[in-house]
Amino acid sequence: MFPLEEKKQNDTMNETNKRVLITGAAGFLGSHLCDKFIAKGYDVIGMDNLITGDLKNIEHLFKIDSFEFYHHDVTKFVHVPGRIHYILHFASPASPIDYLKIPIQTLKVGSLGTHNLLGLAKEKNARILIASTSEVYGDPLVHPQNEEYYGNVNTIGPRGVYDEAKRFQESITMAYHRFHGLDTRIVRIFNTYGPRMRLNDGRVIPAFMGQAIRGEDITVFGDGLQTRSFCYIDDQVNGICSLLFSDYTLPVNIGNPDEITILDFAEEIIKLSGTGQKIIFEKLPEDDPLQRQPDISKAKEILGWEPKVTREEGMKRTYDYFKNLSKDELAKRDHKDFSKHNKF
Ligand code: UDP
Repeated sequence: MFPLEEKKQNDTMNETNKRVLITGAAGFLGSHLCDKFIAKGYDVIGMDNLITGDLKNIEHLFKIDSFEFYHHDVTKFVHVPGRIHYILHFASPASPIDYLKIPIQTLKVGSLGTHNLLGLAKEKNARILIASTSEVYGDPLVHPQNEEYYGNVNTIGPRGVYDEAKRFQESITMAYHRFHGLDTRIVRIFNTYGPRMRLNDGRVIPAFMGQAIRGEDITVFGDGLQTRSFCYIDDQVNGICSLLFSDYTLPVNIGNPDEITILDFAEEIIKLSGTGQKIIFEKLPEDDPLQRQPDISKAKEILGWEPKVTREEGMKRTYDYFKNLSKDELAKRDHKDFSKHNKF
């Protein structure tokens, strides 16, 4: 079934003279999306305010004629001259450390930023895809999470700024779709990892990967029996593109359903790095979801998409990527050093 899916997607991405705006272009997901669209022959406008994103992720694109970059904060009025056919809204802080440090910006980019981009899409008659998240399910009482589940979110907890911004984002997107007939797509992204993610930004893979590279002990929060399901970046990007070029307008989960406890995952990382670190246990953060696993039946059925890269393969690729960076490059990708740049 996979070759068929690939073919379908490649065919749809074979358009000419189409222009795409990608917000959050200097971030982890945004930069990989820029690469994908450039490789498929699109004209790409990357937009980012560089608060959590880094130009390093897209500097290889600056020499390409079909790539433009706007240093802009999407919570302010967004103006892009000329035509735009697609907008992918991926601007948002997405790690617990970031949204604790910049809670108001997190709320604003999901709400005001989304409003501005929906307005731009309407003005340009463009199709817009909004990056939502598994966080809309909160600490889920339904397992695995399907798109019909409404979630269990603490509006006033520390994660609330992210969760509620994303829930509002979905809501305003559907309102533009229903009221203005705007051509919209909503992807609910589950934990995704791969090259270019920032290390040590509070999330589990960046934390474990950073610790493995530095040879530090692995920090497991709580008893480590909470579960997550990790999707490799290439699968995520393919899923997002399949959704964008489908005609399905309700939210779709994109993630890898291969679920693992955080403790078992820590053991896997220790094995991968071969440096024999210890596991140390730390306090579980507030409102940390106990279980998370996407139900991807909808993506399979409607998009013909499912992930192909196993955790073993994806983690190896990611580990090798970080292992091969120079000390300098590694420091630039490390949130511990990165936050010294005092961007917040
Ligand atoms: N976690 C951990 N050690 C770390 C960082 C995170 O055990 O150094 C845990 C965290 O408490 C959570 C899981 O790993 O249960 C996934 O955390 P992450 O922040 O990556 O994603 P999210 O909670 O948003 O799924």
